[in-house]
Amino acid sequence: MIVQNIALVRQRIAEACKRVGRDPQSVKLVAVSKTFGAEKIREALDSGVEDFGENYVQELREKIDAFRDRQIRWHFIGHLQSNKVRYIIDSVHLIHSLDSLKLAAEIQKRSRRSIDALIEVHTTSEATKTGVRPEDVVDLVKGVSRFDRIRIRGLMTMGPFSDDPNESRPSFRTMADVKRSVETEGIEGVRMDQLSMGMTHDFEVAIEEGATLVRVGTAIFGERKRSD
Ligand SMILES: *Cc1c(COP(=O)(O)O)cnc(C)c1O
Repeated sequence: MIVQNIALVRQRIAEACKRVGRDPQSVKLVAVSKTFGAEKIREALDSGVEDFGENYVQELREKIDAFRDRQIRWHFIGHLQSNKVRYIIDSVHLIHSLDSLKLAAEIQKRSRRSIDALIEVHTTSEATKTGVRPEDVVDLVKGVSRFDRIRIRGLMTMGPFSDDPNESRPSFRTMADVKRSVETEGIEGVRMDQLSMGMTHDFEVAIEEGATLVRVGTAIFGERKRSD
């Protein structure tokens, strides 16, 4: 099942790339495995997925321990509380959800190496979504750029909850604008080459709008029991 789901998602990624003249290799699939157990992760691994996204520190810790012997790049995509940074920082490949200077300071303090991070941007009018406002991104990036153990690589966002993927397009277009506004500043040590956007319901639109990382859960693993 998971094998076929992944094949289908990869095919849809390739088709979306083709529509806008992009190389499918320029889009990385991050399989969002939150709430799913080791068995399902193993199936995805065996289908060639190497990037997995998790939202919860405790759950990620357990999975890191369970898969020590496998080549996995763990992506932290949920809201990260400063007091939990130390539990995962050594094992995470990319933090998608950097959203405050306080969190950045904690990462700087706890990390023993330079770690890649994306700034999470709030691009919808929905009150429940986390992230910093587009107009505040440049200031945050400037602040974070003073920390030598954090390398800003780009931005992450979530589109609106909607059945119509096209409703996400304005969000994703905002990301391109924010990316440009950061690039214009020419901040030392900051590279804006990654845009993490697009989930099961809108990853094709995200690819059309420049996503380099898509975070897909349901289309690979099925419906989650717990709502997120
Ligand atoms: C759960 C989650 C996803 C995956 O959502 P699906 O709709 O299951 O593909 C992607 N990004 C974030 C931040 C999430 O919390």
